[in-house]
Amino acid sequence: MIRIAIVGGGIAGLAAAWELRPLAESGRAEVTLFEASERLGGAVRTDRESGAVIECGPDSFLARKPEGITLVREMGMDKELIEVRNPGSYLYLRGKFRPFPPVTPAGLPASLSSMAHSHLLSPAGKLRALGDLFVPRSRSLSRGEDVSLGDFLRRRMGREIVEHLAGPVAGGTHLTDIHELSLRATYPDLARMEKEHRSLLLALLRERTPPAQGGAPRSPFLTLRNGLSSLVEGIEARLPANAVRKSSPVETISRGDGGQYFLRTGGREEGPFDGLVLSAPAPALSAMLSKSFPELARAFSEFRYSPLVVVGLVYPQVPENIPLDKGGFMVPRDEPLPISGVSWATRKWGFAPPEGGEVLRVYLDEKRNPGILSLSDEEILERARKGVATTMGITGAPRYSRVYRHGAALPQYAVGHPERVARVRSLAAQWPRVALAGALLEGVGLADCIRTGREAARRLTKGIAEPSA
Ligand SMILES: Cc1cc2nc3c(=O)[nH]c(=O)nc-3n(C[C@H](O)[C@H](O)[C@H](O)COP(=O)(O)OP(=O)(O)OC[C@H]3O[C@@H](n4cnc5c(N)ncnc54)[C@H](O)[C@@H]3O)c2cc1C
Repeated sequence: MIRIAIVGGGIAGLAAAWELRPLAESGRAEVTLFEASERLGGAVRTDRESGAVIECGPDSFLARKPEGITLVREMGMDKELIEVRNPGSYLYLRGKFRPFPPVTPAGLPASLSSMAHSHLLSPAGKLRALGDLFVPRSRSLSRGEDVSLGDFLRRRMGREIVEHLAGPVAGGTHLTDIHELSLRATYPDLARMEKEHRSLLLALLRERTPPAQGGAPRSPFLTLRNGLSSLVEGIEARLPANAVRKSSPVETISRGDGGQYFLRTGGREEGPFDGLVLSAPAPALSAMLSKSFPELARAFSEFRYSPLVVVGLVYPQVPENIPLDKGGFMVPRDEPLPISGVSWATRKWGFAPPEGGEVLRVYLDEKRNPGILSLSDEEILERARKGVATTMGITGAPRYSRVYRHGAALPQYAVGHPERVARVRSLAAQWPRVALAGALLEGVGLADCIRTGREAARRLTKGIAEPSA
């Protein structure tokens, strides 16, 4: 029997535990998941206290990546799946809600005509974007180096594309400033397009895929009727009770003479373990590995996280002139507001409070609010309310409000990210049966975290016969 410890009970650690469940049930593996806090799920957390579903962290997963739906199905929760009702979002620019033109995932106009008709770009901005047709290839990229998405696009297409399209779209997806976002780690396709076609606009023209024929278009995002925490609760309910150790922050990891691993938590030594899944955030991993695995610990310390706060607000109503026919709106960085966006959760997903009204999720980032994690709830709430007052004209008090802080929840895929990931992966591979999982690696989205969690579990148990059905 193989003994495996999973460090971190976010969605990645849970996916690893779920993948190992058949081996654990057949007695071929003993699995223990150590979670620092008193609850599982990590960034995934649904607040149901107001009677409405309010997501404190992620609110959906991508339909085009199969890992999320597969896990939901394995949990027997297919009927809980719901599609986004009002896709798309507005940009709040110069006092108005302006619809986004059709854009690519990185926020580029999907076609020349969508760029020509966009109200988010001035005539001068459109002309500058057309300059992409003549801009030579980036020398840094040609040398195989990494650059930021913001610098790359600014050089090719100018400031307005960056600030009014790519910044809110790609920055909104990664919840960060795109001038700090690694192009190679997040949108490697753009580097490829430049390499093959030189101009991105030419590449878009030449590579345009014809729209799919027939059938209703599927929603790009899915969630669960009672919130994403139901997935966490579903997994937890199906794991053996003694497999989960909450309120057990791992303080150190060491290796015994026999080559097995030992964890220290709450001043007690746990183990021995034959294998480890490391799925806690990088700063925590760096701290727990620093004594016995200093090189790996140093490599983990190279990753940065950007703090983020989500404020859940329930209002009895919002002013009638607000369109509310999309999922919400984003705020570009050049608008002098403390918020970076608002999700209209009731319109987006149908998450309605029992007494009626609207659920809003307001995002506040560190860039616009330095030191945000140390601000009081009252101060954060005041900034969120100022944001919705200026943009949506809501001045009354919310019926319910709650502040959700995310410290080390979202790793920054900063320039050089692929090299940093390759380094932690290769250092971890020097130790037998140590596998990495989670948002740090090749995608912060839930589907990617589930994938890396399951892959880590499979890697550790490779060669151990599957139990017969
Ligand atoms: C506000 C927000 C909105 C997001 N929106 C979306 C979205 O809509 N769609 C999407 O796909 N993704 C979204 N994401 C990203 C996604 O939610 C996360 O990337 C993902 O949930 C991370 O999962 P994880 O298991 O890798 O890490 P985490 O969720 O961070 O889990 C790590 C766990 O490790 C635990 N831990 C820490 N230290 C220790 C220790 N010493 N010992 C033991 N355990 C420890 C933590 O308590 C935590 O539970 C969002 C993220 C945030 C923060």
